[in-house]
Amino acid sequence: MLLLAVPVFSQQQSAPKAKPRVIVIGVNGMELDMIRPLLLKGQMPNLASVIQKGAYGKLRTVSAPNCPRVYSTLFTSTDPEEHGVTGFIVGGITANTNMLKEEPLWSMLSKSGVTVGMANVPATFPVMPVNGYMISGMLTRGKNCEDGVLCAPKLSEVMGGDAVYPKSLQPELLKNVGDFYIDCERMPGAGDLKGHEAEFIDKWLGKVQVIRDQQTKLFDYLLTTHPTEFTFLGQSCEDRTGHWLYPITPFNVGYNASINNVRQDAFPNQYVAFDAVLGSILKHVDENTYLIIFSDHGIKPLREFEEKDPHAHMDHEKTTPVIAKHDFADGDDVPGSFFAMGPGIKHDLRLMGLGASVYDVAPTLLYLYGIEQPKQMRGRILTEIFENANNKVAAK
Ligand SMILES: [Zn+2]
Repeated sequence: MLLLAVPVFSQQQSAPKAKPRVIVIGVNGMELDMIRPLLLKGQMPNLASVIQKGAYGKLRTVSAPNCPRVYSTLFTSTDPEEHGVTGFIVGGITANTNMLKEEPLWSMLSKSGVTVGMANVPATFPVMPVNGYMISGMLTRGKNCEDGVLCAPKLSEVMGGDAVYPKSLQPELLKNVGDFYIDCERMPGAGDLKGHEAEFIDKWLGKVQVIRDQQTKLFDYLLTTHPTEFTFLGQSCEDRTGHWLYPITPFNVGYNASINNVRQDAFPNQYVAFDAVLGSILKHVDENTYLIIFSDHGIKPLREFEEKDPHAHMDHEKTTPVIAKHDFADGDDVPGSFFAMGPGIKHDLRLMGLGASVYDVAPTLLYLYGIEQPKQMRGRILTEIFENANNKVAAK
């Protein structure tokens, strides 16, 4: 296939003309309130090193944020009403790439000759042709996951569309990576949990780690054997864990001691586990590589006005005892996060307030490749993160 024809060292050999190498990691719902204590305790050494070498801060999100809605805004830098993927279900149908009414980032990069690799990114099913490869993420449909909503089909059991582009990559992955779960484990229903809380929680967390390990292996395989100039990888188990195992206290809405007292560290531990995934990816990041880590939104415990209906988080399994969520009407209540490092990006820069938004990610990525921002994009280039943005433009 096309990618194999690209010499691995071509970028170093022709440095002035080479396209930048960029790795983007989307961490579903990564919540800064959870991460800060872990950074202080030294439990996220890899993220700490990225912060020290780069710029970071909050990332403003859209109203009532959820994954497909925000990711599609991130892909297109347009409003949900404009790009069409307004939620998990749109007009009674599971959100899918055929609904996108605005051109996504991967298409713009591909057209400009940038090699593109994407894996496990939400709302990319069925996969679209790119100048490289695409392996779908959240909202992939398959056996035991017929609607594709918040469940984990195996690659070999995908239905209703392609999860891998090009098709020839699928047998290669099955052979060299093994059959892996896409997205993350479905959350349990209240009935599954009742009377077996600790046992079920431990079993569920074990499955989550199996999935994370498979995805780590997949990412390492792709970055090693199919290096691309632009690589976009997704993680989604963190958010799902937070929805029902956020470490809340008895006064919080929805508190149930038999569930919420069992594994108080389950949610923060997801970020410790993510840091290990990041460590594996960092092995592929040299001083000429841009690394962008972002979350589409945060996640917070339910509020007083959810008290009458604490399990009404419609975006997730309807009988799951949800105690934290992110689809608050005011997206500013649950900002995402943004971390960037690479050539010409300021070191140890803290972005204050909500000046950076999910709309700005695509224009900033296009800028790294010297591609002009299309008119429909509502975001801006995050010039404040660069040492000298004007020189960078002149160099293009
Ligand atoms: Zn969620």
